[in-house]
Amino acid sequence: MKRISNVIHSWKRDHPGEPFSAYIYDLGELKRHAARIVATLPAGAAYYYAIKANSDPKIIEALLSVAAGFEVASLGEAEKVREVSREASIIFGGPGKTDDEIENALRLRVSLLHVESTAELLRVNWIAERLDLKADILLRVNLRGPLPAGTLQMCGVPSQFGIDEADIPQAIELAQSCSYVALKGFHFHSLSNHLDAHQHAAMVGHYIERARHWQSRYGFDLHYVNAGGGVGINYEHLESPFDWESFVQKLGQIIGQEAGESAPSLFPEILFECGRYTVASCGYYAAEVLDIKRIGGSHFAVVNGGLHHFLLPGAWKHRHPLFVVPVESWPYPWPRMEIHDLPVTIVGRMNSTRDILARNEPMTRLRAGDVLVFPYAGAYGWSISAHGFSSLEHPQFFVSKLAKSCNRVQSK
Ligand SMILES: *Cc1c(COP(=O)(O)O)cnc(C)c1O
Repeated sequence: MKRISNVIHSWKRDHPGEPFSAYIYDLGELKRHAARIVATLPAGAAYYYAIKANSDPKIIEALLSVAAGFEVASLGEAEKVREVSREASIIFGGPGKTDDEIENALRLRVSLLHVESTAELLRVNWIAERLDLKADILLRVNLRGPLPAGTLQMCGVPSQFGIDEADIPQAIELAQSCSYVALKGFHFHSLSNHLDAHQHAAMVGHYIERARHWQSRYGFDLHYVNAGGGVGINYEHLESPFDWESFVQKLGQIIGQEAGESAPSLFPEILFECGRYTVASCGYYAAEVLDIKRIGGSHFAVVNGGLHHFLLPGAWKHRHPLFVVPVESWPYPWPRMEIHDLPVTIVGRMNSTRDILARNEPMTRLRAGDVLVFPYAGAYGWSISAHGFSSLEHPQFFVSKLAKSCNRVQSK
């Protein structure tokens, strides 16, 4: 990863003796990846970015011209999108929306509201009436299953999201009786970090089948089936990623079959709102090794960061990929701590036994002053971490557009 090591080396040259920690976002990679997603989706499918995975304005801006729009889960997120673009299409979802959020989301001209309960449906209608507008909504469905054979049973367990599948008929009738909402379809987002492309496509097929069943039974124009996000990153086995090509191929077949005889204009648009899959690969979390020590026969490397910067491996309890960027400069007049061909546990500065970024990682060589880099850190990295913990320093943020230019942006 030449580009990443360039960023680290050039910063270290300019800041001798200062320990490094940063998120580095490669916007060139992001745009290439997103453009490929969009180009390979079959006709009749649209791609949104779920910004809670990473709501850095530079990321939103980079995706403006590629994505069909943005999915947001709070008013704050809707405002973040609006700060970057007055026009971008926004889909607003999430359980427990307040009246203030619903009102201001409508004022910010969101394209669709995901309604998560019948009580919320009544509130949306009531607020839209006050604003004298009609709110386009999707009903969020909490599927009971059974799902098609082979798919994960991700919805069989009750959760706080959406409306129980059994109550959808009642919710449709209620929506049809509300003068200030227009029912445009259904929203299904049932899982995160799914790795099986065939199952994922079959699941989307199931969503379409359910939505069309309700459409034919209750007779309304079905404009959208939102299939949510959930496409995964195989962090522990990067060599066998989610098979996107198979997914879009199977999806194309499903859409073709389901559309069948009906005119294309009568078939709903299938929306995707991918967070993790969109931004994971463009981000790197990097932290310098401050200390290396041996305790009771185990080796620990303490880095200038930790789970308060990068909670992801702690949250998912997975083995996150990492690599070492060797740094040759050493500012002290004594030799560097150094280990060879040993397993090392990478820990952070949180003063907590849980602050472990990686356990027993085999290391050919690691020295104090080298920088450890965690790739695939662009999604749910900084955004889910407890930055305020113990008043520890925040990392820097670097955003690169091209291989060479890399601008430091203000840390937040
Ligand atoms: C978080 C979320 C997403 C994005 O999920 P990923 O697993 O990151 O793709 C999409 N839709 C909704 C409603 C969400 O809450």
